This record gives sequence, C-alpha cells and structure tokens, in this order.
Amino acid sequence: MAVPIDNYLRNQFMPHMWCPGCGHGIVLGAVLRAIGRLDLPKDEVCIVSGIGCASRAPGYLDFNTVHTTHGRALAFATGIKLARPDLHVIVLTGDGDASAIGGNHLIHAARRNMGVTTVMFNNSIYGMTNGQYSPMTPKGRYASTAPYGNVERNFDMCGLVKAAGGNYVARATTAHARQLSNYVEHAIQTPGFAFVEAVTQCPTYFGRRNKMGTPVDMIEWFRKNSVNAAAAAKLDPEELDGKIVIGEFYRGDAPEYTRVYEDVIKRAKEAAAR
Ligand code: SF4
Repeated sequence: MAVPIDNYLRNQFMPHMWCPGCGHGIVLGAVLRAIGRLDLPKDEVCIVSGIGCASRAPGYLDFNTVHTTHGRALAFATGIKLARPDLHVIVLTGDGDASAIGGNHLIHAARRNMGVTTVMFNNSIYGMTNGQYSPMTPKGRYASTAPYGNVERNFDMCGLVKAAGGNYVARATTAHARQLSNYVEHAIQTPGFAFVEAVTQCPTYFGRRNKMGTPVDMIEWFRKNSVNAAAAAKLDPEELDGKIVIGEFYRGDAPEYTRVYEDVIKRAKEAAAR
C-alpha cells in the first residue's frame, strides 16, 4: 500500500506560503505520491531547489533537502549526485528558475545524462516577484512586464531536454494529477536525466492578469486545452496553437553519468597503483 503523503511533510512548518488555489500543492502531491508508491526510504532521497514559489517546496519536506540559489539547483544536484550516486536526487524548480537563469545548467545536466529527476513547475510566470513574464509565458499573454501582451515565443522545454540528451521527458498539467504522478514515478525510475514539466496554475499573478477566473476555472482550462501526444501528432501546427501537448515524449537508454564516471575513477586508481 502507498505511504500517505503526510509522512513526507514537515508539518511543523505549516501553514505553507503558497496562495490559496495555487497549483503547486497539486504538483507536490503528485511528486510525493510517486515517492510513496516507490516506497523510497527518506534517507535515500535528496530534494534540491533554486529560488521561486515552487522552490520553497523542500522546506516542507521531510527528506534530505537543499534550498539553493536562483537557477543553480541543477548545479548543486550534479555535485550531490557525483558525491552520492546512491541517492535519488530530485530537483523541484520553477519555469523561470529552470528555463532562464538556470537554462544552461539544465542543458548540460541533460547532455551529461546526470542521474537526476527534474520536475519543473510551469506556471508561465515569475510568481514570487510579482508576475514578470518568463521564457515559458505564452505569446500574447499578459504579465507585469508585458502589459500589452508578450511578444516572445515560449520555450518547448521538453523538446529542449530531449534534444540535449536526457533519458526521459514528459509533460502533464494539474488537471491530470494522476498522470503527472505516474510520469514522476517513471522519471525517478529512469537511470539518467529525467524531466517532467508540470503545467500549474498561478491564480494570483498569471490567472488574474490574464482574466482566467478562479483556480478551478484555470484547471478546467488546462483540461479543455490539453491534447495528448498521439492526437497532437495528427494535427497541424495551426490547430495546436495555444494547446498544451501532454504525454511521455521520450524514453532513452543512454548510460547514466555517474556510472560512466565510475570507470574514470577505476582507471585513475589503476594508474596510481602502477
Ligand atoms: Fe502560487 Fe502564484 Fe501565489 Fe506563487 S504567486 S504561490 S505561483 S499562486
């Protein structure tokens, strides 16, 4: 039977700081349920985050936890995994943290195929700093720094991670919590770099500025505007405009970095012994 998620919370730090209706609790619940189904011992899990609303999550979690600096969660996670390859290292990061200041760390963690699971909470905005647009804000949407509508195209982070060399890539939304949790479970089980994009609602800044209604309306909008990967493959780019494509996009079997690095350590020891 799955472990109840309360078992993984530092209840002494409640209430949490997230706004009422924020989707981050749904994403975090999906992550904790995946860990519970896998029955991972707490001491064998290390959760790492950067800066932002999503990155506050580790403070509430009863594992080894590291709350680091903006955009650098994957740099810290890389060091942790190299020092302790036996740990399940899980990065919880926001869209600004992962795709802007931390973008380069993400690309290289994927290129190295570092054995880290990354869950990117994509609320399409910088929530913690009052709603500036991020690289994940869709074109035409409003933000405090895009009062006439964002003119930039948003990143396809799943496409980026796949192209960079990660072994697992998937996306779901808070309207698909069970699916999201299953993807996180598969990501944790994947040797090598695994990336799950969790599309989540920020009713306070993104939803209000874009007139998306209540948090429930936003989840309903995700549900109505999501297309699974198999159906999306049959649609034209125009038909997919504004849609969220969900599903498991890639599973690879490239060797995980710390396993490869073990050979380097072995060769170095042999050379030193000669
Ligand atoms: Fe959630 Fe947005 Fe509030 Fe941050 S600002 S806690 S993302 S609703």
